[in-house]
Amino acid sequence: MNEDQLWDVLIIGSGPAGLSAALYAKRANLDVLVIEKEYRGTGQITESDLVDNYLGLPNINGYDLGEAFLGHVEQLGAEFREGTVEGFEKEGKWWKVHVANSQAIRTKTVIYCAGASHRRLGVDGEAEFAGKGVSYCAVCDGAFYRGKDTAVIGGGDTALGDALYLSDLCERVYLIHRREEFRGSASTVQQLQEKENVEILTSAVPKKIVGEQTVTALELKDGRSIPVNGAFVAVGMQPQTGLLQGIVKLDDAGYVVADETGVTSEPGFFAAGDVRTKALRQVVTAVSDGANAAVSAAEYIKQMQVS
Ligand code: NAP
Repeated sequence: MNEDQLWDVLIIGSGPAGLSAALYAKRANLDVLVIEKEYRGTGQITESDLVDNYLGLPNINGYDLGEAFLGHVEQLGAEFREGTVEGFEKEGKWWKVHVANSQAIRTKTVIYCAGASHRRLGVDGEAEFAGKGVSYCAVCDGAFYRGKDTAVIGGGDTALGDALYLSDLCERVYLIHRREEFRGSASTVQQLQEKENVEILTSAVPKKIVGEQTVTALELKDGRSIPVNGAFVAVGMQPQTGLLQGIVKLDDAGYVVADETGVTSEPGFFAAGDVRTKALRQVVTAVSDGANAAVSAAEYIKQMQVS
């Protein structure tokens, strides 16, 4: 790869949004480089044991769906590079993107698809026992808790899916939610209610994760102590937009302000997937965002080249 190359599109992140953007940009005959911090990473989707709401592919494993997306884009000839982006600089009408331990990348447009990371619960013991009983990924770590007792904390689709997944491995699963109503799908709540080894505790607010070498219990604010070997925290996500402070407009929660076109406050800088302001964060909406952002980037390049 020529290090002085001026790319048409630099896509940051190779989850469903980034890969879909790469597919549409390649099909628009643009030079596309995808940069991702994990080798052959496909984003959060790899943490879903089961994706059952992607049209036409019922009951697919998240890792397999990610591999199918990646394979499709590789076939089209998009280039991939492993690396961590550290900052952005405007260079005339185009962009210079700084990457850790590597030469900066020059590009006409950026499509930022860095997704979101796991929100912390923020209770005592959480950091101390991270990796020693506290986990943020049931699909990754569930097998370590085969035949043991676990708690899943949260009331969204992730927590519900994690509890269902763990119920097939663990002796007992406690689903701990701070309110009475669940944010996640009613049909999954019903499936959980039908499981004999799942106990659902609502209006239950965690106070502390306790243990010795590893976790032994989860203490609640109402004084109850739930004896568990593992605590799976599934309390939502935070957009990975720390690098974008002062670059593009963010909302109060840190999401990039952009509609479905992906156009941000900064010309030539587009955002797609979970990082942008939107109502529904799903694989299908990420894929749709990626397509839209690539079309917007292609249009922008065309306009800039005639102006
Ligand atoms: P989410 O929908 O934001 O849910 C987070 C849950 O954590 C909420 O129930 C929230 O409680 C609870 N929570 C937040 N902070 C807490 C704290 N400090 N202590 C205790 N509880 C806390 O996040 P998510 O479940 O990760 O889902 C994110 C997005 O991905 C959603 O749009 C979801 O639908 C989607 N998703 C879809 C699928 C699927 O369709 N297969 C699977 C996973 C995720 P409150 O309800 O009280 O706010």
